[in-house]
Amino acid sequence: TREIHLASRPEGRPAPENFRMVHSDLPELKDGQILVENRFMSVDPYMRGRMNDRKSYSAPFRLDAALDGGAVGEVIASRSGAHKVGDVVVHQLGWREHAVVDGSAASTVPAGLAPDSAFLGALGMTGLTAYAGLLKVAEFKEGDVVFVSGAAGAVGSMVGQIAKAMGAGKVIGSAGSPEKVARLLELGFDAAFNYNDAPVVDQLRDAAGERGIDVYFDNVGGDHLEAALEMLNVGGRVAMCGAIAQYNSTEPPAAPRNLAVAIGKQLTLRGFLVGGQRAHAAEFREKMAAWLADGTVRYDETIVDGLENAAGAFIDLLEGANTGKMLVRL
Ligand code: NDP
Repeated sequence: TREIHLASRPEGRPAPENFRMVHSDLPELKDGQILVENRFMSVDPYMRGRMNDRKSYSAPFRLDAALDGGAVGEVIASRSGAHKVGDVVVHQLGWREHAVVDGSAASTVPAGLAPDSAFLGALGMTGLTAYAGLLKVAEFKEGDVVFVSGAAGAVGSMVGQIAKAMGAGKVIGSAGSPEKVARLLELGFDAAFNYNDAPVVDQLRDAAGERGIDVYFDNVGGDHLEAALEMLNVGGRVAMCGAIAQYNSTEPPAAPRNLAVAIGKQLTLRGFLVGGQRAHAAEFREKMAAWLADGTVRYDETIVDGLENAAGAFIDLLEGANTGKMLVRL
């Protein structure tokens, strides 16, 4: 079988030579383990942080060892009472064609609810991030004007649609291309702009108008956060989900320069990790399944074929090549 190793730690932008394809033999299954043939693996922005040799909220990847991350696949051998051959499971040993997984670390996907890949996106980690970040962290309420950055991505596209479904006063999204902006409008965003066209603060002011914004769901940081701070209303809330504008940078960010407006406006800025939101997973899954079934929420996927193209998919994700969830089909 084949797996992708981290060959060296990227400086700034990752490059293909930071990754290496390795052929390996599968170990014998021990009691409690299952063998999974992966069908899809996820590439996610947070993996960039794990490629640095720096302590963060998740441990750095080891050099010359297989990378890991979310994956969905079929159980092809089982020594676990919890899973049988033929089950489709979500687990954390992606970046490889086959995975030996502890049965306790794999969860069976409900049959017939959605295609397998959705359990890595809309019905999986990024969907829960959007749901919990908007409703629990930012404490969204009906009538709020919501701004979300990275809006055409996996998390952002769900945030905007959930906000609409829950009665937002207005939903504004930003993304990096005219095609993505057009897609956001199709998905029901009230306004959307391309952050490459003009300064974010000017475009956000035009989109928000007199009403300002009540909630900012931040996927980007930097000038997006600065613009949102400028436009937030008194009592506004920020869910600090990600800061992708700085993941590849080697210098500290220049923005936001206006954090002190949080005082006068009595803003709440709350960072969160999806791992801390598991208590809401069941409620999320039930709501999201219903929204998907009746068409209230739609999701996009950008699918790259082949493990040999996984590193490229990850590199391209950081450059905005994806619309919706970026996935590798194995
Ligand atoms: P996306 O599907 O949104 O993919 C990343 C997108 O980021 C790209 O498509 C690109 O879109 C955009 N991007 C890249 N560079 C920049 C830049 N300099 N400025 C603005 N946008 C940029 O990924 P996810 O939905 O998986 O993740 C979105 C964010 O949420 C990330 O910051 C991630 O780290 C965070 N996250 C946090 C979690 C948590 O637990 N807190 C869990 C999951 C995700 P474009 O073409 O528009 O530039």
